[in-house]
Amino acid sequence: MGISIIHPYICQIFIKRSIMFKIGCHLSVAKGFLSMGKDALSINANTFQFFTRNPRGGSAKVIDETDISAFLELAKQNNFATILAHAPYTLNVCAMDEGIRRFSREMMADDLLRMEYLPGNLYNFHPGSHVKQGVEVGTSYIIEALNNILKPEQTTTVLLETMAGKGSEIGRTFEELQAIIEKVELKNKIGVCLDTCHIYDAGYDIVNNLDGVLEEFEKVIGLEKLYAIHLNDSKNPFKSHKDRHETIGKGSIGLQTFDNIINHPQLKHLPFYLETPNELPGHAEEITLLRSLYKSV
Ligand code: FE
Ligand code: FE
Ligand code: ZN
Repeated sequence: MGISIIHPYICQIFIKRSIMFKIGCHLSVAKGFLSMGKDALSINANTFQFFTRNPRGGSAKVIDETDISAFLELAKQNNFATILAHAPYTLNVCAMDEGIRRFSREMMADDLLRMEYLPGNLYNFHPGSHVKQGVEVGTSYIIEALNNILKPEQTTTVLLETMAGKGSEIGRTFEELQAIIEKVELKNKIGVCLDTCHIYDAGYDIVNNLDGVLEEFEKVIGLEKLYAIHLNDSKNPFKSHKDRHETIGKGSIGLQTFDNIINHPQLKHLPFYLETPNELPGHAEEITLLRSLYKSV
């Protein structure tokens, strides 16, 4: 009887912990999930972001289970990372008007039910604009909405996006996000999506002090709550509170900082999503560039 034993030391030589770069961009949902999956593959991406419905709100498309199962198969075969759904821009769970608040809550609850067809993924939303009510009132509405909408049985993690702070946006500081998170009952269903353009415009200096910004995030929120990164350069200078995205390397943030971000030991395992002003060919170029910078070990 021949028994072959592979010596454990020999095994260890071959096991090098290499990290997969999870990179994709925002894609149009118009032709369905399989089409987005194929578009992602065509630009060497292994994930993507999409709007759950028209970005201006309104009704969502009817769920096409055949399309979704074809996508899930494609994603499995190609080792896709988690995909990120983005709520419509019009959603404002802290609006002054009760009707808009209710409509926003209903849209979000419906989005989350639909997300269960794609289990275990991420859903990102803008915390909202308090208009003239002040941050505290606005924050209390956001907390109330989340405690109403989040369900223990859901498999989706809901992410609050860091905002640039234009107008009366809530989420311009880590403290504002933490004030929401600490009052959410189902803590394991809530996290943060960090937008590089937004936090730079908001006044977090990721160009000169990325480590300091991450320390601040860790101190105020905790890095275990960070689930995704929107990778955008900015058309405007530091602290401008403007929120205008630019192609990677062509804005005020610059390529070196993106190199630092995607390779940062505390960030490099996360999924990165481009929301830059590009069509597919432009995103393909950005992904090629970022892949050339990414160190997988
Ligand atoms: Fe966003
Ligand atoms: Fe964003
Ligand atoms: Zn933005």
